[in-house]
Amino acid sequence: MSSTFENRVELVEERIKQACERSGRSRDEVHIIAVTKYVSLNTTKTALELGYRHLGENRWQDAQVKWEAITEECDVKLSEHPIWHFIGSLQTNKVKDVIGKFTYMHSLDRLSLAEAIDKKASQLGIIVPCFIQVNVSGENSKQGLEPEELLPFVNQLERFHSIKPIGLMTMAPYEAEPEQTRPVFRALRELRDEVQQSSKHASTITHLSMGMSNDFEVAIEEGATWIRLGTILVGKEEE
Ligand SMILES: *Cc1c(COP(=O)(O)O)cnc(C)c1O
Repeated sequence: MSSTFENRVELVEERIKQACERSGRSRDEVHIIAVTKYVSLNTTKTALELGYRHLGENRWQDAQVKWEAITEECDVKLSEHPIWHFIGSLQTNKVKDVIGKFTYMHSLDRLSLAEAIDKKASQLGIIVPCFIQVNVSGENSKQGLEPEELLPFVNQLERFHSIKPIGLMTMAPYEAEPEQTRPVFRALRELRDEVQQSSKHASTITHLSMGMSNDFEVAIEEGATWIRLGTILVGKEEE
């Protein structure tokens, strides 16, 4: 028996509320990205109807059909458009496909990518809010800068006028016991605080994009301002 979307919403929202209460945080500080990468166009529309306006996808090839259909439908109906977050690692040659369509980038992790984003954004006359991805856990499989690379990277971003770094992003390793992810999230928060104090270009770096289905409560307790929820909220559908 699979649970309905409405059931999942109720359950997840309650758990978010409780994590905020436990950590003395206001519920308004925690934004949800509904990660739709595992589901169909129809389920993506249900997420929108249920009020989740921020949608996350990690591959343009998979997102394209949904992006195009929803954008067209919103244009025709003059309804409010969703706000798309690109959460996957991005090849430099794919930048032209996603910049202008996805508002937020969560995986900025190298200068060549910054350069490509900046170039495309300035052609379009837009400024792209970006999260800098950091590999806090040290897992080889994870994308992102090493923690000690962060500060020099932030300083180098200054020359890209069409990029606005707004926060840090990380992925914790999957843990059977979510509590085990706490040091990763805590370290990202401390890095943000450090970078804010050490770099004069870091005043905009305030957000923390961290926490997924398995570990969002711990991430909230450690200061997440954006959590990225796929399976537990939107669900997962077989092909
Ligand atoms: C898939 C994905 C998520 C959501 O994963 P769930 O565990 O299903 O919530 C969040 N962030 C990133 C970067 C992802 O690729």
